[in-house]
Amino acid sequence: MVISIIYILPFRSSLTFNGIILAIVTFEAFIKTDSASAIRASVALALTIIISGLIILHINRLKQNLINESIRDPMTNAFNRRQLGSHLSSCLAQKQRNDIDSGILMLDIDHFKKINDTFGHSTGDMVLKRVTQLLFKHIRETDLLFRVGGEEFLLLMHNIDSHKAKQVAEKIRKIIEKEVIIDNYPITVSIGISMALAHIDDDNWMRHADHALYDAKESGRNQIKMHQPLSNYCPTKA
Ligand code: GH3
Ligand code: MG
Ligand code: MG
Repeated sequence: MVISIIYILPFRSSLTFNGIILAIVTFEAFIKTDSASAIRASVALALTIIISGLIILHINRLKQNLINESIRDPMTNAFNRRQLGSHLSSCLAQKQRNDIDSGILMLDIDHFKKINDTFGHSTGDMVLKRVTQLLFKHIRETDLLFRVGGEEFLLLMHNIDSHKAKQVAEKIRKIIEKEVIIDNYPITVSIGISMALAHIDDDNWMRHADHALYDAKESGRNQIKMHQPLSNYCPTKA
């Protein structure tokens, strides 16, 4: 019975239930049998509870590891693309229903191929890890970081206005530029920003960020660019 309780109930509740069962069994055993048998029965039951509990804890840890491996990129620990669509859709729905702003930063390491070619693939990997560590260190707990390509990352920031999103992008750009990742070889990133709009889907939202990133690359790299929605476009009067 104690083993089934551990498997069926949530871990904490199972501990409480089994604690009560242990107390009742111990009490009954001391009343109905001699104390040596009562102690033996109680110790055996307590050991069964402890060992089953440890096994369940171990299984839960393995389960969590498996879940993590299926949703995160093993090298950088950023989320992989699989999770992205649902998170973007949820932010867009909140924009539509409650006018809650969200923004995405599409970040790409500049001339990354040259880093690989000059210093080797393992140094390239090290750069990817350092850049993601810096990103994780400076983003909010509610922000979600995805690795969407080889050296391309998407930062999803829920509940943020465009002014603040720009500030975050510029802060990140400066932090990476200042960090010495390879001696005497500055690493820089270009960032495209786009804000959630009520009338677009997640693909278009990402496309806007891609366009802004392309703009940042075309303008010379190591800079941020905000996607300008067409609704802000004001044709000049003739
Ligand atoms: P740009 O400034 O225009 O972004 O140029 P770039 O060189 O960064 O971009 P490009 O797309 O030409 O090259 C990206 C390179 O990233 C090519 C690919 O071999 C490398 N890459 C992709 N994934 C990994 C990885 O996991 N590790 C390493 N070391 N390199 C990778
Ligand atoms: Mg690049
Ligand atoms: Mg790229």
